[in-house]
Amino acid sequence: AAKRAGKNQYQFFTQLMQQEIKDRISLTRDLRSAIDHDELHLVYQPIYRLHDFALIKAEALIRWEHPTRGSIPPSVFIPIAEESGFIIELGKWIFDQVLHDLSNINPISLQGMQIGLNISPVQFAHPQHLLAFIKRLERSNIPCERFCFEITEGLLLEPSKTTEDTLQMVRRSGIKLSIDDFGTGYSALGYLKKYQIDYVKIDKSFIKNLEVDNYDFILCRSIIQMAHELNMELIAEGVENAQQENILKVMNCDYIQGFLHGRPGLFSALFEPTLAPRSHQKLATKH
Ligand code: C2E
Ligand code: MG
Ligand code: MG
Ligand code: MG
Repeated sequence: AAKRAGKNQYQFFTQLMQQEIKDRISLTRDLRSAIDHDELHLVYQPIYRLHDFALIKAEALIRWEHPTRGSIPPSVFIPIAEESGFIIELGKWIFDQVLHDLSNINPISLQGMQIGLNISPVQFAHPQHLLAFIKRLERSNIPCERFCFEITEGLLLEPSKTTEDTLQMVRRSGIKLSIDDFGTGYSALGYLKKYQIDYVKIDKSFIKNLEVDNYDFILCRSIIQMAHELNMELIAEGVENAQQENILKVMNCDYIQGFLHGRPGLFSALFEPTLAPRSHQKLATKH
């Protein structure tokens, strides 16, 4: 009977796996048509400077409303896009969309602000569209400094020649660089010395229990101190309560991002539209 149960279980798992593969294939196919069917949009999450709560950055995050499955999180479809190579097409769409969103706001409200864009390692390996974006910015009236590429530690671990060259090109353009999800990767800290990184984003897994977990407390404090000594600024992501915020403030963290002060939302909720200008100061200050 045990053998029988084992076999049943085996069949059960094979079926599960087959279902999963089918799902992936259909998602891959659906994703390819999502752009033409207008199912994608970007939301922007505010990032505030801790000492005065000025709105300093906004991170662009992609959303997919699937016609039958409802909203599918990027943690599910970005890996699929990376594996299928569609991430290049998607990356182009994101650049277009960001510039479109920017064209609808009063440039004054963008002064001193940065837009964070998540860039996949696959995009660095096929960089033509990254370079085209830089060229486009250089021809426009939006300075490259207004953008920050969020990259992950994995990209810098064993970069190919193409990736290295692209990173150099991005740096030379004036686009800023953040290390996203810091602490979850390889902790091969040598890359911090090799590449000029502007910002370190402490992963939300270290913030989640910051107020109760002594290990997280020590890790955060050490990351902040190290990054400051290396002339980088710190962003804590996933800040959900005031206790976490207070601890980060005492630790001298520079910026916070999280549900406590702002969920990802429409661009127009963060910035003034081109028409109907309001006071800039009012928007830039949170409290
Ligand atoms: P990420 O770049 O680390 O983005 C931060 C994620 O944390 C976002 O999830 C955001 O909604 C979430 N978050 C922010 N504050 C809080 C908080 O207080 N609590 C909790 N629990 N979560 C918070 P999201 O939008 O689901 O994105 C997940 C990941 O998908 C991103 O992680 C990024 O790696 C990837 N991603 C999202 N948009 C893009 C994109 O346009 N291009 C690429 N290549 N990747 C993207
Ligand atoms: Mg990010
Ligand atoms: Mg992050
Ligand atoms: Mg993350």
